[in-house]
Amino acid sequence: METKKGKLFVISGSSGVGKGTLLKQLVQKNPDLEISISATTRNPRPGEIDGVNYFFITETEFLKEVKNGEFLEWAEFNGNYYGTKQAWVERNLNKGKNLILEIETNGALQIKKKIPDSVLIFILPPSLEELEHRLRGRNTEDEETIQGRLHEVRREIECSKNYDYTVVNDDLDKALKELEKIIKSIIH
Ligand code: ADP
Ligand code: 5GP
Repeated sequence: METKKGKLFVISGSSGVGKGTLLKQLVQKNPDLEISISATTRNPRPGEIDGVNYFFITETEFLKEVKNGEFLEWAEFNGNYYGTKQAWVERNLNKGKNLILEIETNGALQIKKKIPDSVLIFILPPSLEELEHRLRGRNTEDEETIQGRLHEVRREIECSKNYDYTVVNDDLDKALKELEKIIKSIIH
């Protein structure tokens, strides 16, 4: 019997909105979901591990992989490159795995064009003030990086109109339940 192809879920949202926090809990509760590990040229934050959080590579390596057609999508965000490996996604979808890509909006729209039955979910903050508060509270970026990330926020939120679903991350448990409900309605 042929294996049913897996579903691809794309999660986006502005820096600091809580994507990482939500996805960590989502996958803990639903071990059948797999998160793609992206390649990036940005430096690791304290505690981040190569091959776990990202594949941290140089700009030269990244551009070589772009040239070799290794990325399903890629984008520049706040001065760094980020990309999703095509081979990993194809291999796992063909195995019937349901996958999650946590990527920014340009990459998400590239995915929707290439894989029209992918499901795009945008995580919104309860307010711009709360978003800035969370981003600063995380204490992982310098002021210039924080300003760069805040600069992107309005454009990103505008782009959420192109997504299939939006979830407001105000209360974490409520947002997690909503996200799970959307995903389960599609894969079950
Ligand atoms: P992202 O991955 O979207 O950049 P993070 O998951 O790193 O964001 O979250 C940014 C900060 O906000 C973290 O310190 C996290 O603990 C906090 N946070 C996430 N969700 C909530 C929430 N619903 N309420 C309050 N704080 C939150
Ligand atoms: P961060 O530097 O905070 O880990 O990520 C910055 C932004 O890049 C986030 O919006 C995140 O979702 C996005 N991102 C992470 N990996 C990828 C990827 O492979 N492709 C694209 N297009 N964006 C990514």
